[in-house]
Amino acid sequence: MAIQPIETRYRGHRFRSRLEARWAVFMDHLDIPWDYEPQGYVIDGQPYLPDFLVWPNTDNAFWLEIKGTFPTKDELAKARGLAQGSGLDTYVYWAKPEVPAPALSHLTDDEYCGFDRGGYVWTDEDGWREYPTLPPTWQLDLRPTAFRFDPGPKAADKEPKSGFWWWTDCHHCGRAIIKLDGQVGFCPSLSHLSGEQYTAAHGSPYPRFGHRTPRLLAAYEAATSARFEHGQSGA
Ligand SMILES: [Zn+2]
Repeated sequence: MAIQPIETRYRGHRFRSRLEARWAVFMDHLDIPWDYEPQGYVIDGQPYLPDFLVWPNTDNAFWLEIKGTFPTKDELAKARGLAQGSGLDTYVYWAKPEVPAPALSHLTDDEYCGFDRGGYVWTDEDGWREYPTLPPTWQLDLRPTAFRFDPGPKAADKEPKSGFWWWTDCHHCGRAIIKLDGQVGFCPSLSHLSGEQYTAAHGSPYPRFGHRTPRLLAAYEAATSARFEHGQSGA
């Protein structure tokens, strides 16, 4: 029997799934601007209506496609086409709206980088593949959250890899975006500092995790505990 999710109403939008509405709550909690389904596209002859445009009209703008399960090849191909065609980073995020990892601030640079970080791949079917190398030890109990598609020409033909893309809260300016391993890195509000000045004033920018600040924890809690009205009545 074919089943369909019931539309979920939140802030005047009718979301196709409750999961999408939860992510909208999450972003609102962090003052992250978003548009829901602002624009459809035809990609390789197929119609495609991406879920969220996040931080629209800013340097941080990106597409966010929400999936309840590990994405299919077809879904990943569309996301790649969207990134290439629109010039914006595109994430296909399938992890639950919950904190993706424990506190990791104790890791040293060596522990954080571990082995060859380019070698791991994780899929729903296989779990961790050991070819050609294992990921750093700290990642072994964690699950990747998303695929990211880069709009650059070099990314056009690369095999997509799932990765540890985590929402990150900047300690300096509160900007919340998705970054690899939740690394805050260099804050744009401090871009007037040279690398040396930055490190002298704020310490080394990597590794510095921003994935479980009080604001982010509160946003995950708000997302998972939100209750919605059904939106299917057409009212
Ligand atoms: Zn910042």
